[in-house]
Amino acid sequence: MAIERTLSILKPDCTARNLTGEVNAMIEGAGLRIIAQKRLRLSQDMAEAFYGVHRDRGFFGDLVKFMTSGPVVVQALEGDNAIARYREVMGATNPYNAAPNTIRRRFASNIEANSVHGSDSAENAAIEINFFFREDEITG
Ligand code: GDP
Repeated sequence: MAIERTLSILKPDCTARNLTGEVNAMIEGAGLRIIAQKRLRLSQDMAEAFYGVHRDRGFFGDLVKFMTSGPVVVQALEGDNAIARYREVMGATNPYNAAPNTIRRRFASNIEANSVHGSDSAENAAIEINFFFREDEITG
């Protein structure tokens, strides 16, 4: 198996309910290592840039508003097949479709306030980690 890195975000619905520790326990319990982490409030510009791929979707404005509505915790995760592994631990985008014992099934409120983000490909993982972290902020 390949050791990979992926970008995780604990979204504002997660920080608002003080769930950082519980989500981190699920991440670590799944064998993923949190090799960088910081809490910040996304600006409008940052949220629009980060979700630029969804710019033409009807929900883009609402998504940006939600992602800037409170603090987020951004993380770089490392482990065997980390990108797919974390998406497994997260569960489906819509929490009603998410498998039992996934983060979204346990904690997400709805398809928008779905508690966590995880990169969807190796290419995007590299871009997204670079969006939030300098190399010297990551310690594997
Ligand atoms: P992900 O990779 O599972 O996070 O899903 P996507 O890349 O398809 O969507 C990005 C984020 O946009 C999701 O995690 C949700 O927060 C939000 N989102 C996706 N679909 C919808 C939708 O139909 N309505 C709303 N309001 N938000 C959505």
